[in-house]
Amino acid sequence: MLKNLKLVLLLICLISLISPACNNTSHSNNDKTNREEMITEGKKEENLAEDDEKEENTEEDQEQAKENEEKNEIVEIDYNKIRPNELGHIMIIMYHGLVEENPPSPYQRTIEGFKKDLEYLYEHGYRAISMRDFIDNNISVEAGCTPVIITFDDGISSSFSLIEESGVLKAKPDCAVDIINKFCEEHPDFGRHAVFYINGDNDPFAGAGTTKERFKYLIDHGYEVYNHTYSHAHLSQLSANEIQEQVGKLDQMIKEALPGYVVDSLAYPFGERPKEELRHLIEKGVYNGQEYHYKIALREGPSGPFVPVNHVKFEPFNVPRVRGSEGEEWDLWWFFDYYDKHPEYRYISDGNPDRISIPKEMEAYLNKDSLRDKELYVYTIEE
Ligand SMILES: [Zn+2]
Repeated sequence: MLKNLKLVLLLICLISLISPACNNTSHSNNDKTNREEMITEGKKEENLAEDDEKEENTEEDQEQAKENEEKNEIVEIDYNKIRPNELGHIMIIMYHGLVEENPPSPYQRTIEGFKKDLEYLYEHGYRAISMRDFIDNNISVEAGCTPVIITFDDGISSSFSLIEESGVLKAKPDCAVDIINKFCEEHPDFGRHAVFYINGDNDPFAGAGTTKERFKYLIDHGYEVYNHTYSHAHLSQLSANEIQEQVGKLDQMIKEALPGYVVDSLAYPFGERPKEELRHLIEKGVYNGQEYHYKIALREGPSGPFVPVNHVKFEPFNVPRVRGSEGEEWDLWWFFDYYDKHPEYRYISDGNPDRISIPKEMEAYLNKDSLRDKELYVYTIEE
């Protein structure tokens, strides 16, 4: 009885959270992101509960979560209405720092501009995902939504830094992380994710806390920290040894601060790749007796289409990004307008991370070898 009541309450919470839903999909599916947020929240609350209740609640909640999970997986979407296209474009947005006003270049964004970007993304059916899920092809945004990845380069304090308040470390007010945290409190289904590409020689995220505490705050709150080379190097000008030092030294710095954390994503400083014959040293190399392995590396501009990993044109070590700014050709707001006019190019999720759904006319663009354990579903629209 109690269990049923809790389930009903959970469902009511979920329904109230799914708003606004993506592209007329509110009828169709439970939102996996929402559900995961709810489960996480539930777990947090549990930690505060009395010890003797703790174990029972955990088991019960896990059982409920599992029940909902199974339920969700068998919910089928209306393909004619949602028209998922999981070979469509996923933008990776690139920011550097935030400024209060008058950005010195289009690489900086104002605080208000960044808030405006988040609002636009949310209102237009974009949902933030992690780089981890992008790399692992494990995209679980609500059916009808378009994933997006938010990145910040250079470990700048206005992107993220900590302050200490009564002995507790908190995100500094109006740094990007603080803005995203607050945005996700109001819109839990947006997805609290952003990716930080850092250097090692510039005191990343300068402010309160040790380097380790800063990295740990990010990881503990759903964010990610990856490699932007040790000293923001011009990789195109470096020798084999120098490249491995730049990649390996920073790789080891993150891994030492975060034991067990997987570091397999890099952003090329200045967007510059190594000379062609040395490019393999991004994927794999050795520094100081330790190997590193990378799966993806990002450029600094829209150097190609924003295709996902199952697309034949996906090049893991040449992944384009779009500059998070407004008013110039090829920047974020230019692409907002572009996808508004051409929604057919957007990645539209089927809501099921285990299934890759594509319309028949996109089948030629599928790299079948990239599917691995994912189920493929090719559908034809009935007009
Ligand atoms: Zn940079």
